[in-house]
Amino acid sequence: MAKNDYSKYFTKPSIRDARKRKSKDTEILDFNNYFNVKGLGKNRTFKIETYGCQANEADTEKIKGILTELGFSESAILEEADLILLNTCAIRENAENRVFGELGRLKQYKRNNPDLILGICGCMPQEEKVVNRILQKFPQVDIVFGTHNLFKLPEYLETVILSKERVIEVFSEEGNIVENMPRIRDNSKKAWVNIMYGCDEFCTYCIVPYTRGKERSRLPEHILKEVQELIKEGYQEVTLLGQNVNSYGNDLKNLDYRFKDLLNDLYEMDIPRVRFTTSHPKDFDEETVKIIAKGGNLMPYIHLPVQSGSNVILKRMNRKYTKEQYIQLVDWIYEYIPSASITTDIIVGFPGETREQFEETLDLVRKCEYEGAYTFVYSPREGTPAATYEDNVSMEEKKQRLYELNELINDGYLKGTKRFEGKTVKVLVDGFSKNNDEILAGYTENNKLVNFTGDSSLIGKIVTVKVVESKTWFMLGEQID
Ligand code: SAM
Ligand code: SF4
Repeated sequence: MAKNDYSKYFTKPSIRDARKRKSKDTEILDFNNYFNVKGLGKNRTFKIETYGCQANEADTEKIKGILTELGFSESAILEEADLILLNTCAIRENAENRVFGELGRLKQYKRNNPDLILGICGCMPQEEKVVNRILQKFPQVDIVFGTHNLFKLPEYLETVILSKERVIEVFSEEGNIVENMPRIRDNSKKAWVNIMYGCDEFCTYCIVPYTRGKERSRLPEHILKEVQELIKEGYQEVTLLGQNVNSYGNDLKNLDYRFKDLLNDLYEMDIPRVRFTTSHPKDFDEETVKIIAKGGNLMPYIHLPVQSGSNVILKRMNRKYTKEQYIQLVDWIYEYIPSASITTDIIVGFPGETREQFEETLDLVRKCEYEGAYTFVYSPREGTPAATYEDNVSMEEKKQRLYELNELINDGYLKGTKRFEGKTVKVLVDGFSKNNDEILAGYTENNKLVNFTGDSSLIGKIVTVKVVESKTWFMLGEQID
């Protein structure tokens, strides 16, 4: 069959279908039933470029696992890879522009090496306009698949390599759960553990509920087994992943097991550090705070996106909590966990945001004493409700607001490191610092970066360090044990 005759696999996404939430049960699929083309990657190499959030990083680890099982090996150099996959992010327009820029650059590689297989996956292909643009402007792309079907990658590669057909297959559905995917983890001491997939929140600015399907929780026994295996392999830290981890379990029919139960079970396990992201203020309650306050392996660091400090804007964002409820939650956190570090996400320049409403956000930032934040200028996403809202705030004004907000947030970063000056902290050592291979770098329980002098035998261990100097983004320390 001629190349580009993609009749076998040609399913384009539809945002309209992705919006639907049917009440059908989530199916749990076993990857082993989809894996029957071993050896396909023999003498071939791959390289994956990952954009976006931890969900994508976790998916990339699974894709690497699949490719390795197929016999591929990872290439250190992009230009030398036989297969290049871009695992993409759709959250903001600039993330997408970067990917299109990269696809343009990779055209040249394809000219130099016509056998190169070029693929794009992740959130961007879940959008109709992206797939249409790829079809029109990027004929050099051989495989396009989305977030729901990475388990079918062996089949797609078989089609591209053996039949020389192009594959476009993107499902716009609620999604299932695939267990037993092979995985090559990026880090041998810190692991991502998906506890749920998708999102049902439908914040009006956000594309995630359309690109990643409905909220669906993994069974507790699957999560706990994965953590047990990680402990056996010597992992020191797990980060539980979900778009709203606090609603974990709500969809598990016939099972009375929620995020609190999961935290309680993990608290009893032999994994030194447990983190989780992302928390949604609407489902995070006092009881959950009390559980985290037990300490032990439950880390005193909470990423709690607020998005805005104005009740009017929060309502228009469909966040389902008020500024007052959010502040109550923050108060509980500081009351029960006095050592806690809280960080957040904030969007400035949401359509119609007035100067006063923005100042309410600044006020809230001061009150909550954040020790860090991801801050964004609102980016309209086609298919989301907010993209149709009238927007009378100029880009210049939005950028000015971002600047003011960041000034305040940076003060918070510095206060957050200064409070540890002279104190001892526990650091999980990641490796040598990027700029100096005699200096070790690692993170404290509060998720602060610490640099200190030490040797390679400490990598992967938790060591006690005295903080001697605090800077905005990191702390300098001395090992004391
Ligand atoms: N589920 C998480 C939550 O609700 O906090 C966040 C997931 S999202 C990948 C990360 C952040 O991107 C959001 O918290 C929000 O601040 C930001 N974001 C999402 N859509 C955006 C948009 N259209 N424009 C600007 N920022 C956006
Ligand atoms: Fe997007 Fe809101 Fe879901 Fe977070 S909770 S992924 S911001 S829709």
